[in-house]
Amino acid sequence: MMTKQIDKPERKEIESVCTYCGVGCDITGVVENNKIVKIYAQKDGVVSEGKLCIKGKYGYDFVDAKDRIREPRIRKTFLDKNPHIKDKFQDKLSCFDDDFMTGDVETATGIAAMKLAEIKQKYGGESFCAIGGARTSCESAYSFQKFCRQTMGSPHVDNCARVCHSPSLKGMKTTIGEGAATNPYNDIYETEFMVVIGSNTMEAHPIIANRIVSMARTHNNLAVIDVRETKLAKLAKYNCIIPFEANMLILNMMAYVIIDEELYDKSFIGNRTKDFDVYKESILNDPYANPAFLSKIEGYEYLAKMVSNIAREYAVKKSMIFWGLGITEHLDGSYAVMAMTNLALMTGNIGKTGAGLMPLRGQNNVQGACDMGCLPYYLPDYQNTPSGLMTPQLVEAMNEGQIKALLNMGEDIMHIHPNIEKIDKAMDNLEFCMVQELFMTEVTKKADIIIGVKSAYEKTGVYVNAMRRLHLSQPLVESDLPDDWEVLTQMAQKLGDGDNFHFKSSEDVWNEVRVEAPRRFSGAAYYRLERHRKRGMQWPIYHEDTPILHLLDFRTDDGLGKFVYKQYDLRGQIEEILENKFYDDSPNGFYLTTGRTLPHYNNAAQTKRTKSLYDKHSEDTLFAAIEDEGKFGDKVILKSEYGETEALNVVYTKKVKPKTLFCTFHHAKSRINAVFGDESDALILTARFKSVKVDVIPVGDEVACG
Ligand code: SF4
Repeated sequence: MMTKQIDKPERKEIESVCTYCGVGCDITGVVENNKIVKIYAQKDGVVSEGKLCIKGKYGYDFVDAKDRIREPRIRKTFLDKNPHIKDKFQDKLSCFDDDFMTGDVETATGIAAMKLAEIKQKYGGESFCAIGGARTSCESAYSFQKFCRQTMGSPHVDNCARVCHSPSLKGMKTTIGEGAATNPYNDIYETEFMVVIGSNTMEAHPIIANRIVSMARTHNNLAVIDVRETKLAKLAKYNCIIPFEANMLILNMMAYVIIDEELYDKSFIGNRTKDFDVYKESILNDPYANPAFLSKIEGYEYLAKMVSNIAREYAVKKSMIFWGLGITEHLDGSYAVMAMTNLALMTGNIGKTGAGLMPLRGQNNVQGACDMGCLPYYLPDYQNTPSGLMTPQLVEAMNEGQIKALLNMGEDIMHIHPNIEKIDKAMDNLEFCMVQELFMTEVTKKADIIIGVKSAYEKTGVYVNAMRRLHLSQPLVESDLPDDWEVLTQMAQKLGDGDNFHFKSSEDVWNEVRVEAPRRFSGAAYYRLERHRKRGMQWPIYHEDTPILHLLDFRTDDGLGKFVYKQYDLRGQIEEILENKFYDDSPNGFYLTTGRTLPHYNNAAQTKRTKSLYDKHSEDTLFAAIEDEGKFGDKVILKSEYGETEALNVVYTKKVKPKTLFCTFHHAKSRINAVFGDESDALILTARFKSVKVDVIPVGDEVACG
């Protein structure tokens, strides 16, 4: 009898880095016949510690998804409007569907280059802008800003840090000279006290949360400060639920207690800082800084005592502060970051093991995108340059007709940015828009050319995680799609900038980064990153790397940390409570905040392609307080002065306070971001996503209420 021969699949295990959040977990991909069949973390993984969250573990189906953008798409209406371009490339194009023609990447970049050259000649280079995401590698981010600045001659380059951690960069750079986490994650095991503020760490940065949880369980040393009860708060010694827009208030109160009770570190202040005396006087005379003020805030009176106790423990112990977008996405995000650096400076909780400041970065390479100069006011390595426009200003300039062309690299500005109705109109005003993406998203609906690119699991490149750790990724599977930097190189060459874009490999690009950004990356050659892939290396990297920053000096011009005082501005919910205008039986005047949930990442473009992740959270959900259950039913629309959402299911919970709401934002169809306007951080224009006043309209009552 003949035995049927079954070919054994070729099986490989390849080490790389997770493509989702800024934690940057080391992963091992199990690959059979060029298909990922499993992702796991090795037990000795330095970041993962052998564990991955469900996104890292299961969220790889997107790589082979049927709806990946495999062929470039060129919109037919664009070709009709540009008949000379159509004529030139006609022979190389074929029909893709009702809306698009298709051709190879050479053809698509050729069309894009021709149109961009015309726009540059007609309106000048500054009519072009580039808005990128931070999911691609440093090599692509570097090429992106270089293409914008050098090839197109425009200063207008920005990245998704505008809607997340730009205030962290601004606040930390102003006070301590460096806008990045001061310590490695494992310093959590060395610390004596942890303050987590404005961060839903267990869902947004779960593998860092694992460390915090294990310390909180054994040492009872955690304070969680947020506008609602997050999962992490259940383990906290201090579950500190604060009113909306009260971060500055609470942080200044902590400073007041530390100064008033003389718990500050005189020697550290004397040796390593400046401007303390002025700051101290300002805080002691600040009308809102005494925690007793909180006893007048109905529903939050317990905070007066709790905030004082948190301040005392923070001051006398070796402490770390962690924060997320609950700090940065406010009117005073940058100042709140400065308020936290003030606390670290006055207590000496910085520049040593187990004490420091940890902004929990969102995307896997948002630190790297900023390091590479994808910001309008910094070149690579944070070198100064005359500023271009930030994204909200670019939207304005599109509406006013000054910006004519947009190159978008993986940033769904029509879903995850605020005021999406305004962005919609701005995009319609463009003469040309090109998008480099994995999937069709909201922003591709406006694109004239869309080029599908490699995902992180298909390419080699450097990623910088939330603790400044560089990880050189290697492809888990092969793909014939171009990398982002290859698309940019092709376009630059076609625009006559081939001398500046001579790259043949990602290593070529990276070697230029090491020359152009020497303060952080000169010693980070590929061969070293390969050799130390497991341990990773934290920038700045010369001969050695730098796990802890500010050991001897701060990275300011004079090496001193600087105190900056800013008084809390009375407003919003607190002002309304003080004036007895907040609590009532009306479904109007609720304060809404938004955030992520564990299974998904931002616009869910990748995570929703894994069925098990999608099924866990297939639509956005609104959480409201049990006390408000009688005011509206279980399906509502939220409406603000800017716009309204689609209908949302409501879950009533004890975890949010009366007249406040929390909603996830992953699904474009819910249009959550339509209710957010242009209010933003005073210094750096990061949108005020963590607070907006809305009316709650029961579904069925829209006409009556509208
Ligand atoms: S915590 Fe972040 S980096 Fe780690 S597995 Fe989850 S999504 Fe990936």
